[in-house]
Amino acid sequence: MPGQTIAEKIFSAHVGREVYADEIVIADVDFVMGQDGTSPLAIKALAAMGHEDRVFDPDKVALVIDHSAPSPLEGVSALHQQMRAFARASGARLFDVGRGVCHQLLPEQGLVVPGDLVVGCDSHTCTYGALGAFSTGVGSTDGAAAMATGKLWFKVPRTIRVLLTGELPAGVFAKDLILHLAGLIGADGATYEALEFAGPVIDALSVEARMTICNMAIEVGAKAGLIAPDEKTLAWVAAHADREPRPAVPDSDAVYERVIEIDVSDLAPQIACPHAVDNVVALPDLPETEIAQGFLGTCTNGRLEDFAVAAGIIAGHKLAPGVRLIVAPASADIYQDAIAAGYIQTFVEAGACIVTPGCGPCVGTHNGVPSDGENVISTANRNFKGRMGNSQAFIYLGSPATVAASVLAGRLTDPRPYFKQEGGHS
Ligand code: SF4
Repeated sequence: MPGQTIAEKIFSAHVGREVYADEIVIADVDFVMGQDGTSPLAIKALAAMGHEDRVFDPDKVALVIDHSAPSPLEGVSALHQQMRAFARASGARLFDVGRGVCHQLLPEQGLVVPGDLVVGCDSHTCTYGALGAFSTGVGSTDGAAAMATGKLWFKVPRTIRVLLTGELPAGVFAKDLILHLAGLIGADGATYEALEFAGPVIDALSVEARMTICNMAIEVGAKAGLIAPDEKTLAWVAAHADREPRPAVPDSDAVYERVIEIDVSDLAPQIACPHAVDNVVALPDLPETEIAQGFLGTCTNGRLEDFAVAAGIIAGHKLAPGVRLIVAPASADIYQDAIAAGYIQTFVEAGACIVTPGCGPCVGTHNGVPSDGENVISTANRNFKGRMGNSQAFIYLGSPATVAASVLAGRLTDPRPYFKQEGGHS
C-alpha cells in the first residue's frame, strides 16, 4: 500500500482499517463542539432524531457561548438559556459568556490532542490542525448526528502539501504567511482538500502561530489544515491536556494532490483588502489608506503572543486622533495573562477599548460594528461585505503588528520599522 498523509492516518485510526483519499467512510469522532450561533439548531436536530437532551458521551461534547457574548438581545438570551438547559440535562460541557472563543478554549482546556478527529459546528474548527488533530467544521445537523452517535461520515480528503522554506523577516508573521497563501491559490484553491503545512518555517513557529495558519485553512476552502506534531506540540499539549496524544506524521512516500513551495525570506506584511480574503496585496504596494478602527482579537490572532507583539509597538503611544482600537482576548485565561503581563494596561493607556473574551466584533452580532464608509484593520480571518455588521464598511485583514502600527498612524502602516533592532519574531 502507498504511504499515507496525516489526514489518511488519522482517518484510518478512526475507521479501523487503512483508508485513503476519496474514500467515503464512517469514522468515530473524539470531540464535538457547537457555538451559540449553531448549537440551538443542533439541539433542535437532536430532538428530531429522538435524542432530546442526550449525547453519546457528555465529556466529549461542548457548547460554547462566544459569538454574541454577553447577549445583546432578548432573542439571543433565550437561545443562550436553551444551551444552558441542554448542557444541564445532557451533561455536556458548557463554556458560558466570557470564557472565550470556542477555537481557543478547546485546545487550551486540553480537550483536543494530536491524532484526534474533531468536528465543530463552526467553520474555523480547522484551527486544531495546529496540534496535529484532524478537525473540521460541519453544519448543525451533521453536528447533531455526531453528538448523538459519536460517529460521522466523511470523504477522506486529498492533501496539498505546503512547504514553507527560508526565514520570516522581522516584522512579518504567521498571519502574513497564510494571507499570502490565500492570495496565491485563491479562496477556492483547496476546496475539500487537506492542507499539510511543513518545512523549516513551520518548525520555527510557536504552537500559537501555527494555530493562526491552520485557522485560515477554511479560507481557501480546505477541509482541514494540518501540521505534524513535533516536540513543541507535545510539550504544549502536555501542559494543557491529560489525555495521551496519538501523533500522526506523514509517510515519506505519502501521495499528495500537489506540493506548493514558498520561500518566505522576502515576504512583506500582507493585507487582505475588501471584500475578499484572497484580495491580498503586499502592504508596501497599497495606496495610503486611512482607518477609523482597529480590531485585535479572534480565534485567528487573539492570543497572548499576538498581544505581546501589539503591546510592544503600542507601549507609550496613543491611538491616532479619531481612531478606535477594540481588543477582544480569545479567552479568559489569555485575558488574565495579558493583565499580568501589562499588555491590557498598555492598550487602555493608548486609548483602546477592551471587550469580553470571545468573538468580539468579528462576526458583527454586537460590539464594534463600524459606520458606513469606515475602514477597519482587523486581525480576523474574514472581510466579506457585512462581516462586522455593516455592509457599507471596508475591512482589511492583517497581522497584530500591522494593526498596532496602523492604529498609531491612523492609516495602514508597515510594522517592520518597529522590529529593525530586534532581529525578528516568529
Ligand atoms: Fe468565528 Fe470570529 Fe468567533 Fe473565530 S472569532 S469563531 S472567526 S466569529
